[in-house]
Amino acid sequence: MIVVIRPNTPREKVDEVIQEVQRLGYDPRPIFGTQQTIVAAIGDERTHHTLESLNALPQVEKVMPVQKRYKLASRESHPGNSIVNVDGVEIGGEKFCVMAGPCSVESEEQLLTTARAVKAAGATILRGGAYKPRTSPYEFQGLGKEGLRLLDLARQETGLKIITEVLSENHVEHVAQCADILQIGARNSQNFQLLIECARTGKPILLKRGLSQRIEEWLLAAEYILAHGNPNVMFCERGIRTFETYTRNTLDLGAVAIIKRESHLPVIIDPSQGCGRADLVRALCGGAVAMGADGLIIEVHPHPAEALSDGQQQLDFGGFSGLMNDLQPLLTAMKRTV
Ligand code: PEP
Ligand code: MN
Repeated sequence: MIVVIRPNTPREKVDEVIQEVQRLGYDPRPIFGTQQTIVAAIGDERTHHTLESLNALPQVEKVMPVQKRYKLASRESHPGNSIVNVDGVEIGGEKFCVMAGPCSVESEEQLLTTARAVKAAGATILRGGAYKPRTSPYEFQGLGKEGLRLLDLARQETGLKIITEVLSENHVEHVAQCADILQIGARNSQNFQLLIECARTGKPILLKRGLSQRIEEWLLAAEYILAHGNPNVMFCERGIRTFETYTRNTLDLGAVAIIKRESHLPVIIDPSQGCGRADLVRALCGGAVAMGADGLIIEVHPHPAEALSDGQQQLDFGGFSGLMNDLQPLLTAMKRTV
């Protein structure tokens, strides 16, 4: 960190700062200018006490961090792209991964017909919420354990891998028994105890971006999982809350480029929560491929108008297979295969 001292500060007050920097565990290197003095504090900022408390001293003008706060998630620590292996399905390499399925698991018929349809169109991972985070307590909350049983059935029949959301620390154990990928939802993106519990399972984790989460906070949430011994993390951009009302959320495709620069971990785009409109999903998927995302997670339902959650944004089977065809030329241009 760099500690900037206010102009015309007497030497003994600079010394006070130097001593404080040392007390906090850093090596202080003062640089005396004609107008202004700065103190460079040498040390690992990620693990040392923060020096931000120095702002409380009247002679300190500002304290500027120079290191990033995340280490394991950073590209500096791992220059190549990380590949997450989901029981044989690789995410983050040359292959482009498509996860698809209903917002919520509703019935055996609904889930199995959807699983067959998305597999036939090229998806390799089946999504479906058994536990649903709903804004209102009166809305469909998911089938819970019965939903997990149906996901298991769909995996046995189709061979698709399963991604499903973990809503609570109490659910981690039994959801992890069923899921090939644990989905951490937008509302739980900074639920650090849940992140730690999920990390401990060793299962691949899809970490959604929080509704109003900054990219640095999102990277630090991933760092929690990595720091607890689980390297199998994927970021999922699913739109952030803005002033815009034409879409449910504002899908931040720029985040793909930023995460790719900052981190080695795969990035998945969720265009369904991202805009909340089935008619825009195709355009956003095209954008995601072009931006260099490693995969998509798309909501698909046999009869979107009858869905128990998020009907307005789910594709029907025809819509999904048409989308997969439309993406082919873009995938080829980006040198990705499904
Ligand atoms: C979902 O995938 O259906 C979902 C609830 O996602 P999010 O956490 O991004 O809102
Ligand atoms: Mn949904």
